[in-house]
Amino acid sequence: MQSKKIYLSPPHLSGKEIGYITEAMAQNWVAPVGKNLDDFEQAICRFTKIPHCLALNSGTAALHLALHLLGVSEGDVVLCPSFTFVATVNPILYQKARPVLIDSESDTWNICPQLLERALLDLTQKGIRPKAILVVHLYGQMAKMSEVLDIAQHYQVPIIEDAAEAMGSLYGSKAAGTLGDLGVFSFNGNKIITTSAGGALLTHSEAQKEKALFWATQAKDQAAHYQHSELGYNYRMSNLLAGIGLGQMQVLEERICQRRSNYAHYKEALADLSLVFLEEYPNTYSNRWLTCLLTPSFEMREKIRMALLAQDIESRPLWKPLHLQPLYAHTVFYNQGISEDLFQRGLCLPSGSSLQESELNKIVEIIRSVVYLSEN
Ligand SMILES: *Cc1c(COP(=O)(O)O)cnc(C)c1O
Repeated sequence: MQSKKIYLSPPHLSGKEIGYITEAMAQNWVAPVGKNLDDFEQAICRFTKIPHCLALNSGTAALHLALHLLGVSEGDVVLCPSFTFVATVNPILYQKARPVLIDSESDTWNICPQLLERALLDLTQKGIRPKAILVVHLYGQMAKMSEVLDIAQHYQVPIIEDAAEAMGSLYGSKAAGTLGDLGVFSFNGNKIITTSAGGALLTHSEAQKEKALFWATQAKDQAAHYQHSELGYNYRMSNLLAGIGLGQMQVLEERICQRRSNYAHYKEALADLSLVFLEEYPNTYSNRWLTCLLTPSFEMREKIRMALLAQDIESRPLWKPLHLQPLYAHTVFYNQGISEDLFQRGLCLPSGSSLQESELNKIVEIIRSVVYLSEN
């Protein structure tokens, strides 16, 4: 019997999405405006306890508008981690600004506060005040936010949280995306909930939300005709896709439980092997978007990955650090060797919320046999 392919993180519909889409179609609200959009934004506000949210057509667009709101423009410096998906940092280049890349620390794999501070000190000595610090909560694990917030306050630099992978994660009792000045979610198909494609910008300020909405809808001035005095974008989410988001919001808590349970299953079933799992850092709660582990070596990582692939199971190396990407090879980078090591030895396991127990068992068996064979 041909068993079906197991994907890393496939979309997982609740069945409730279609109702919202049908209703929007029946009422002809098939534009980037309508009730689904309003309701979706309100649902996100309620869930995260943020006062304002703007639904957009991607997380990348939300990051771009966040930088724009902070006035990031040509030549400005923005500090950000090297260990992340390229979409975190590309919007800095859209603005013709200069990223300064910071290595990770080994507890959460996110931006290292000590290195961040060193970079800020260096920049200050050169008379440069960065326009923003971009923090990412990778794989659902929150960065060391109290340290980062202290440093940001000391140097008077605003924070953007890229919480694209961390919707539903907590720092203390605060939701990912609400600790900084601005926060970003992604609803791309592989994220913990999806609108097929989409994102959201979170803010504490109504004025910021209004300004971002203005830019996201082609920056139309008040006039009967179309008049423009600023550069705008076409970044708004469609009301149809917001309907998918509404259906997904109803199962978000459930999806987090399912993802956390995947992690717990893997960790317990592989506990006796020489594999290191990304641990939940004290005072944080992770949505466990992806279960990630470190193998003893690059060779072992590849053996496991290839053995899974041979059984039609998708796993993936951890993010390739941006300073190793041709596009960012010449960017200033504060290195302490952590992200390079993570990239060498790290693997993301299939982590979808629709994974069956039999599939988890199959994956565990394959990993066990590879590691066991190499250790004995
Ligand atoms: C997915 C992702 C993004 C981009 O979101 P899109 O909705 O795909 O544009 C940004 N940052 C991180 C860390 C991501 O994982």
